[in-house]
Parts: sequence; structure tokens; C-alpha cells
Amino acid sequence: MLFSEFDLDSRLMKSFGHFGFEHTTEIQARAIPEAMAGKDLLASSKTGSGKTLAYLLPAVHRLYTRKALAKRDPRVLILVPTRELAKQVYATLRTLIAGTRFSSILVLGGENFNDQHKNFQKDPHFVVATPGRMVDHLKQRNVFLEGLEMLILDEADRMLDLGFAADLRAINNAANHRRRQTLFFSATLDDTEVNELAQELLYEPVRVAIGHGQ
Ligand code: ADP
Ligand code: MG
Repeated sequence: MLFSEFDLDSRLMKSFGHFGFEHTTEIQARAIPEAMAGKDLLASSKTGSGKTLAYLLPAVHRLYTRKALAKRDPRVLILVPTRELAKQVYATLRTLIAGTRFSSILVLGGENFNDQHKNFQKDPHFVVATPGRMVDHLKQRNVFLEGLEMLILDEADRMLDLGFAADLRAINNAANHRRRQTLFFSATLDDTEVNELAQELLYEPVRVAIGHGQ
């Protein structure tokens, strides 16, 4: 498919042009329309298949096209297992929202907690975070997730491997309202713990598994 076939917001398509991609990968072709339609997603495909844009494009599109459900930010929370991945995802997000009114912050373990607290006070639209540190801020009431419209888990299986199960459940509970959309990405869907978590977090998900014979 071509990215131009999705009817993504024209302002988003303009920033996306920076990447120079015309043709989607398979996961993008399958995941983007479902996510744009507001569906919950349970998705997997191999490393390097373009999952980051498969969730970031619908997430940014949503902010352009839908009014906030609540006054309170953040509106999109992206959880990732490691600092390195968080930085990569954040860089891609920054490119997609460059020059817009949308703001974003990066919330990583091992960095200054008070600086992050101050960043939350600026009411960012997007938060890219590792789960442990995100929960620390929730506990301190530095951030509230009542206005969260989209919860995205990238490499959910890896987050479980790293022992973040309880943190992921705590975040889910803090953002547990009916109209939230959840996009769940994992390298494998063939795992009991992954499926249990997915069942708790997702509402009637569309399953998109590329290249696993599923
Ligand atoms: P994954 O998360 O599935 O491992 P990434 O989202 O990190 O994959 O993307 C891997 C690489 O592929 C990145 O460098 C990204 O810019 C590039 N990429 C993503 N989508 C496309 C596309 N449609 N065409 C060409 N390259 C792409
Ligand atoms: Mg990835």
C-alpha cells in the first residue's frame, strides 16, 4: 500500500514526508487503518518491519482530528522497555510533530526525577516512557491519566521479560476508562503472559500477526 491511501491528516503527511517513504510495510498496511478506525490492536511482526510508524502515525493523526476527551493531558502514552528504544521512538515522534502545537516529553529511568516532574507540569500531549519511571510519577501524583486517549505498548513481551508486569497493570488501571484506545505490539503473541496482559488491556482487539504463521 501507499501511505497516501490512508487519508492521514495533511499536516501530518507533510511532516511524514521528511522520511521519504511512499510504500508501507505489511504491518503498517494492516495496522494503520484499524488504528485510525479507533480499534484496539494486538499486533506482532518481526524486528525492522516498521512498527514504530504503524502506531505513531495513527496516534498523531488522532490528535489532529479528534477533540480532547478531557481537559487533562497527556493524551497519548507510549510505553517501551528500554531507554535506547525510548530515545529512538521519541526522535521519530519529534519529527512527526515538528512545528506543530503538540508537545511531547521523554520519561526515562535513571534521569533526574524533578526535571521530569517539571516537564509533566507543561501538560505534554505525548509521553514516551519506560514503565517503572512512569509509575513513580503516577504514585507521586505528578501526572494523571484520566484524559489519556491512546495507550501504546511497544515490545510488550520484552517489558514483561524485564519484570514490568505490575507497572503495566498499574498504568492500565490509572488510565482505565471506556473510551481509551490501546495498541499492543509484541514480537510474539504466542506466549501465555503476553496473552493474559493483552486480554486485560484490550477491548475486542483486531489481531494483526505478520510472518508468524498465525
Ligand atoms: P520495528 O519496530 O518493527 O523493529 P522500526 O519501526 O524500528 O521497526 O523500523 C525499522 C526501520 O525501517 C527504521 O529505520 C524505519 O525508519 C524504517 N521504515 C519504517 N517504515 C518504512 C517504510 N514504509 N519503508 C521503508 N523503511 C521504513
Ligand atoms: Mg520497534
